[in-house]
Amino acid sequence: PYEVLVVGGGPAGASAAIYAARKGIRTGIVAERFGGQVLDTLSIENFVSVKHTEGPQFAASLEEHVKEYNIDVMNLQRAKRLEKKDFIEIELENGAVLKGKTVILSTGARWRNVGVPGEAEFKNKGVAYCPHCDGPLFAGKDVAVIGGGNSGVEAAIDLANIVNHVTVLEYNAELKADSVLQDRLRSLPNVTVLTKAQTKEITGTDKVNGISYVELETGNVKHVELSGVFVQIGLVPNTDWLGDTVERNKFGEIVVDQRGATNVPGVFAAGDCTNSPYKQIIISMGSGATASLSAFDHLIRSEVP
Ligand code: FAD
Repeated sequence: PYEVLVVGGGPAGASAAIYAARKGIRTGIVAERFGGQVLDTLSIENFVSVKHTEGPQFAASLEEHVKEYNIDVMNLQRAKRLEKKDFIEIELENGAVLKGKTVILSTGARWRNVGVPGEAEFKNKGVAYCPHCDGPLFAGKDVAVIGGGNSGVEAAIDLANIVNHVTVLEYNAELKADSVLQDRLRSLPNVTVLTKAQTKEITGTDKVNGISYVELETGNVKHVELSGVFVQIGLVPNTDWLGDTVERNKFGEIVVDQRGATNVPGVFAAGDCTNSPYKQIIISMGSGATASLSAFDHLIRSEVP
């Protein structure tokens, strides 16, 4: 068995694998797509100490760093089942079963898409998902936020400080965000809130130039000219495959303690698949390191030579 088996090859998994391998213990990492979400990211400007990089370049550096160590990298393999027996078993889609004395889950998350025309086409060309990451790219411009829940309203408040104007589109009759956030939002002079507004299309040529929505009360289609659209209708953790084997919260996030431990002894988790309150590269890497050091601690306490 592996002493540390990492499932997921994004920033959290890469960091966990490197920290484990540096302890000189047998380490494996299995990933559906090594690199994770950063592969879909254009510019990264908040990874502290690196002023600017591009997602694919960042992913390549992650891989290069992992390959500096004696780590079994199993890319393009998807885990479908976890079971705790003598060891912790991870079954892959291809039928293979990997065993770990400890396992670190770092399967990340994905942004929920609105699924309207233009969304996929203009991803990274005006369609964005992360206000902390991409907000400054729209300084002084007009943007829309799709979604009036907590994340949408937080994004709109955040963006209103940076951009010229924010239009919030909510499908329902009312925003779902906490009332303190709604009050804050409505106090801002450069925000328009549209409820009962169904996004129909994100328009553009080589990049976004507007958004069309159906005014549900009248059935009329309206169009707003703008440069950016932030989709904020939820982040879905890639944890369905775990079922009830590991405790997850109502959002499907794996519940971890301060040390990255789950409710199953020997199973740790890190990054966007967990209940960590903020989902960022630097945070995922920190939690990957934490989970790995905890796995090592678990191994030295549970093994009598
Ligand atoms: P992920 O990056 O999601 O990696 C998960 C890994 O697990 C992948 O390798 C995936 O293939 C694998 N996996 C999933 N399911 C399975 C399975 N069943 N079996 C095996 N492997 C599996 N953050 C910033 O800090 N700065 C930015 O500028 C920034 N920009 C962003 C732009 C975009 C468009 C997006 C989508 C995100 C951005 N983020 C940014 C957020 C950042 O990418 C994430 O916080 C970070 O990648 C999370 O790392 P992770 O390792 O936890 O998960």
